[in-house]
Amino acid sequence: MTTIEQSTAIEHVDVLVVGAGISGIGAAYHLQERFPDRSFRVLDALPAKGGTWWTHRYPGARSDSDLFTFGYRFKPWRGPSIATAAEILAYLDEVVEENKLGSTISYEHKVTAAQWSSSEARWTVDVTDVATGAESRLTTDFLWMCPGYYKHDQGYTPQWPGIEDYQGVVVHPQTWPEDLDHTGKRVVVIGSGATAATLIPAIAKTAKHVTMLQRSPTFFYARPKTHELATTLRGLDTPEEWTHEILRRAYITEMNELTRMSFEEPEELRTFLIESMRPLLPEGMDIDKHFNPTYRPWQQRIAVLPDGDMFDALKDGSASVVTDTIETFTRDGIKLSSGETLEADIVVTATGFDLSVFGDIAFAVDGKPVDFADTVTWRGMMFTGVPNLVYVFGYFRHSWTLRADMISDVVCRLFGEMSTHGARTVVPALRPEDGDMTLGPWVDPANFNPGYLARSMQLMPKQGDREPWLGLQEHAVEKDDLPGADLDDGSLVYR
Ligand SMILES: Cc1cc2nc3c(=O)[nH]c(=O)nc-3n(C[C@H](O)[C@H](O)[C@H](O)COP(=O)(O)OP(=O)(O)OC[C@H]3O[C@@H](n4cnc5c(N)ncnc54)[C@H](O)[C@@H]3O)c2cc1C
Repeated sequence: MTTIEQSTAIEHVDVLVVGAGISGIGAAYHLQERFPDRSFRVLDALPAKGGTWWTHRYPGARSDSDLFTFGYRFKPWRGPSIATAAEILAYLDEVVEENKLGSTISYEHKVTAAQWSSSEARWTVDVTDVATGAESRLTTDFLWMCPGYYKHDQGYTPQWPGIEDYQGVVVHPQTWPEDLDHTGKRVVVIGSGATAATLIPAIAKTAKHVTMLQRSPTFFYARPKTHELATTLRGLDTPEEWTHEILRRAYITEMNELTRMSFEEPEELRTFLIESMRPLLPEGMDIDKHFNPTYRPWQQRIAVLPDGDMFDALKDGSASVVTDTIETFTRDGIKLSSGETLEADIVVTATGFDLSVFGDIAFAVDGKPVDFADTVTWRGMMFTGVPNLVYVFGYFRHSWTLRADMISDVVCRLFGEMSTHGARTVVPALRPEDGDMTLGPWVDPANFNPGYLARSMQLMPKQGDREPWLGLQEHAVEKDDLPGADLDDGSLVYR
């Protein structure tokens, strides 16, 4: 680990990467590979690498996607398709070690402000040392923003009546206490998203009983933890690079088909998902009430159950599901609108995240604060009026990292294009022909509308109605569009 020197001479780096999660480490890898002569630094507010996988420490924390596509395209994944947080952290450790990236990362360094000066063509960045509170400053030509999309320090917990009277323990999965012992306890998990689906089978083994309390159902999809194709290929002693690539293609193809069906044949996909759940659920389960959402499949994340683990817990009775709304917390648990009460020693609020817009950094361009809600995105990665800044936002349906890797390619091409133009600055700007463009939200809620986006979409940049002003696209579209994206069509201004 390195620290930024506090001295009168301000340190300057060619590129500053904010965030040392899977996106930031990927950015550092691509930068080092393709621009070995450029100086760069990675800063992260947390004490270690991994971002999401460092923050989430609740029992059973694991990926929802397969690691062949959630892992980088340049580093084969050797484990089972679905991986624990610890396995993902170990993979990132290897990437950092093998590529000698360790000395480029400074942990416990939180970026608080970034000011662009057009006359100097550089960002001045304010940084706080989280451990000591010391403040420092550095300058950079280019900001590669990899801060993820949610606040890491705390999750989202709704305000429920009576919660102050409750005598048990309330815990959010994002801030899981290391010493919380759920053995022999009655646990109620509020929520039924991917986090609840991960936690419930993990704690049901030793808790007295776990109840999943949901206001409305989620789609679940039981998938083998290890893909049979991976088992076959590894059995043939196939090079891991091949297995990685073949499995990537297999998972991308499957996700493409699910995505296509979610738009073109949503009711067929609903039936497929429900029918795939039916044999795995306890006999007599009211599937329509508990497992048939009102929204179209994929309008919110479909939660993957490795080897159907949560269904096993429901089947053996160690867990159960209740679909109801909370009237009030009581001294001993939760009173529901139906009149039923759930007694609980521990209540887990698996109720989601709070969106963080660009790492909650105060940005300014030439002294004027940037409100990202007033900007229009260039291909979901740059923003009108904000020079020399790229933001990595991955896919919802396909693995996040597929997009992070492709954005790295675009950034590297962009650096080349800047050199060709002899430019120190690149900034997206609407062209005269874009004047009549209709602007819409960062993510179309008809397409994808999880709670954290619905609560805070007004803070995010806008997207337009045509290329290159569209935001997050499907991987099936972007895999062809992004590699050849025209960097000289007038929508990027080089100076
Ligand atoms: C529990 C959980 C499971 C998930 N599972 C999957 C999955 O299986 N597949 C999938 O595709 N997606 C999944 N996601 C979404 C997931 O967050 C992303 O896929 C991916 O991990 C994001 O990586 P990232 O590096 O972009 O951001 P993060 O992992 O969020 O890391 C961002 C880093 O930036 C740092 N940072 C932020 N702001 C600042 C600042 N101002 N100064 C300094 N540092 C800063 C943070 O400390 C953090 O370390 C999951 C999310 C959660 C919460």
